[in-house]
Parts: sequence; C-alpha cells; structure tokens
Amino acid sequence: MSLVVAIVGRPNVGKSTLFNRLVGKRLALVDDRPGVTRDRREAEGKLADLRFRIVDTAGLEEADPDSLAGRMRAQTERAIGDAHVIVFVMDARTGVLPADKPFAELVRRSGKPVILLANKAEGREGMQGAYDAWELGLGEPVAFSAEHGEGLGELYDALVTHM
Ligand code: GDP
Ligand code: MG
Repeated sequence: MSLVVAIVGRPNVGKSTLFNRLVGKRLALVDDRPGVTRDRREAEGKLADLRFRIVDTAGLEEADPDSLAGRMRAQTERAIGDAHVIVFVMDARTGVLPADKPFAELVRRSGKPVILLANKAEGREGMQGAYDAWELGLGEPVAFSAEHGEGLGELYDALVTHM
C-alpha cells in the first residue's frame, strides 16, 4: 500500500501549487483569490524515485460563511485522518497568521508525522517568515518554494524516512 500524504494549511499558502508540482500536471485549481470553491483532489505524487498518494485539501466555498470554518475543518480533519504523513504549508511572506492556528492545532492533535513547509520563501523576503514558522509548534520549518521548486531536496529527505 502506498504512503498517503495530505497537504494541509489555510487558504492561499500554496497547497495546490505544491500538489500540481508533485503530480506533474495541473490537476488542482490554483487561484490568486482566496475563496474559490475547490474540492479535495487526490493523485499519484512523484518526487525523484518516491511514489505516494498525495491529497490536496480545499479552500473555501462561497455560500454560507457561518459554516465555512466548519466545512474546511471537517474536510481537513478527514484528510488528516486518512493520511500517514502531513505536509503543513504556511506562507513565509505573510508569516504565521491567526488563520494558520486552527489547522496547525488539528495536525498537532492528530499526532501524525508532519513536514512543515515555509512556502513562498524564494528570495530574501521569505527568510523571516520561515523563521516565524517555528511558533506553529510543528517542528523545524523547511524554507520552500512550490512555485520555483526550491526545497524539494529537503522535502525528499523528510518523506523518504516514512516510506
Ligand atoms: P492554496 O489555496 O493553498 O491551494 O494556494 P494556491 O496553490 O492556490 O496558491 C495561492 C497563490 O500563491 C497563487 O497565486 C500561487 O501562484 C501563489 N504561490 C504558490 N506557491 C508560491 C511560491 O512558492 N512563491 C510565491 N511567490 N507564490 C506562490
Ligand atoms: Mg488550493
């Protein structure tokens, strides 16, 4: 049975960009606007010689803001429950935001192994945000860029320990 890896984090941190990079196709919708409807997507992921199931978790739905948090939470909880390893993505450009916290809390409570990616860390601006990611309590952040493919070696090293 294949390792199942779930990509978790608040909307707009770059989860779908990472998903597409690992799948090698544009299966997940990447959008500049936070708030477009997105489903959970699952596909075969590849990183060098590693093969695994990769699950992208959705962002938001447009209707009924009251239950929005609940739906995102339920979907993320299911994905975490089904996964062997969690890849938690935060945005190194914004640093840790309050919206990151409930997602980090779900991951911590699951007790599952987590790889923390400080995404959008290409260039110099990302470095402080990557450092801030320590405060999520999910271990050592990997400075990463899903868009530019930086940090894939560290992601590989972290994933291979779970294969
Ligand atoms: P999701 O909501 O977490 O799935 O985030 P998306 O993958 O849809 O990306 C949200 C926005 O962040 C898009 O505009 C992406 O192009 C952008 N983005 C994703 N990864 C990176 C990155 O490594 N660097 C930068 N600068 N932008 C990124
Ligand atoms: Mg997405």
